[in-house]
Amino acid sequence: MPLLKSWVASANDASNPFPLNNLPYGVFSTPGSDPRCGVAIGDRILDVQAAEANGLIDLTDVSLFELPFWNDLMEEGPAVWTALRARLTELLAEGSAEQDKVEPLLVPMDEAEMHMPFMVSEFTDFYASRNHATNIGTMFRGKENALPPNWLHIPIGYNGRASTVVVSGTPITRPNGQSKAPDADAPGFGPSKRLDIELEMGAIVGTGNPMGQPITVAQADTMIFGYVLLNDWSARDIQPWEYQPLGPFQAKAFATSISPWIVTRAALEPFRTSTPPREKELLPYLTEPGPMLYDIALTVEMAPQDGEPKVICETNYDQMYYSAAQQLTHHASSGCAMMPGDLLGSGTISGPEKHQFGSLQELTWGGKEPFELGDGQSRTFIEDGDTLTLSGHAQGDGYRVGFGQCTTTILPAVAFPEQGD
Ligand code: CA
Repeated sequence: MPLLKSWVASANDASNPFPLNNLPYGVFSTPGSDPRCGVAIGDRILDVQAAEANGLIDLTDVSLFELPFWNDLMEEGPAVWTALRARLTELLAEGSAEQDKVEPLLVPMDEAEMHMPFMVSEFTDFYASRNHATNIGTMFRGKENALPPNWLHIPIGYNGRASTVVVSGTPITRPNGQSKAPDADAPGFGPSKRLDIELEMGAIVGTGNPMGQPITVAQADTMIFGYVLLNDWSARDIQPWEYQPLGPFQAKAFATSISPWIVTRAALEPFRTSTPPREKELLPYLTEPGPMLYDIALTVEMAPQDGEPKVICETNYDQMYYSAAQQLTHHASSGCAMMPGDLLGSGTISGPEKHQFGSLQELTWGGKEPFELGDGQSRTFIEDGDTLTLSGHAQGDGYRVGFGQCTTTILPAVAFPEQGD
């Protein structure tokens, strides 16, 4: 598909992440105004709440944009999603008859503050990159036993916390927790010393399934509303002490960050790609009817306080062994009800080479191999004041479908209240 031209000139720039081909959904505010739904186009945001109020968008009997979240649209289902995208394309395309009416509803992006784009119903995190699972398994169990016996048969996941999913730009406080060094006699409690990122994609479920009703992979694909960048913050010293036998808990519960723009499944259609060949044949309920992954280039930058950012990871979403559609199918396979606004983390995305590893745990091989940040500073794990930024885009012919950035600064841990306080 070629670049679709818009009368918003900046949207036609080959390096702009938000051409007419993209039209991602976010929630923004401007000084003195409340948060509301908007669509990115070039270096502008179209205020769709105002467009609906003006009658420029009139697709349903009910208001889609009364609330500053995209959940109301999600609940309408794929036919309305398609109709809205077609209408937005019509309004913003070069030669639009309604340019005069739409132009006053554009806001400069650099004057806007971004907010959570949707209400997260629940958050589930998976573990679906073979390179990542092999790296972590090698560190904890040795090379021969790196992949758990279930890994090639089942998309492994755990139920996480929706309450601590926050948007890019929200600082994260270093977690306190209980940990025990391998050579220590007893556990201690205090700020995590091994705070880490996990570079992931988040898939947003747009329509749910009733409790008790499983879904096929093809159905699951049509239920996915869109994707965001996702940083699944992890405390590597808390995790090994707490995770057996029930899986991650406090090591993951304190924060998950997402990028502010939901890139829709429709915008990603030209970039579909297949999961890799299966080493073990999957059970029939998990087989894919077609390509379910996407070719999305991903980077992570790290910057010390007042320092220059450095790229520490470059990888691609196409490295996953399981797609979001497979994960959603598996999630509902027992009869578990999925809801509009459910967020599915892909699992850390690591490529085969060292510079493609999506976590510091892998990049420094468990903290044994520090790397240079510049200015003479080196890192194994994250220090207070460090800023981590995820970026991602799909590259088209003469345009790109970008996700923007997911950027977060780490604040020092808070003092734990004394007993009796
Ligand atoms: Ca994760």
